[in-house]
Amino acid sequence: MPIFEYECGQCRKRFEYLARNPADEPGACPQCGGNKLTKLLSAFSVGAERVPAHAASAPGPACSSCTGGPCPYSGG
Ligand SMILES: [Zn+2]
Repeated sequence: MPIFEYECGQCRKRFEYLARNPADEPGACPQCGGNKLTKLLSAFSVGAERVPAHAASAPGPACSSCTGGPCPYSGG
């Protein structure tokens, strides 16, 4: 199911909304209850930049123990 991001035109609150079908959309802002919602185009991986090689910019030592397992730097 696609996750869409909306911005409230009233309080500028941004939130994600899980649409069950293409016509499904939130009726009101979860923060202020306003209904001036703008659908943002940035669906999927919002705020999560994909890092091609986690070893390049990993804050810690190289993930020598992560091979084949879940790595905290791979972004899931
Ligand atoms: Zn709002």
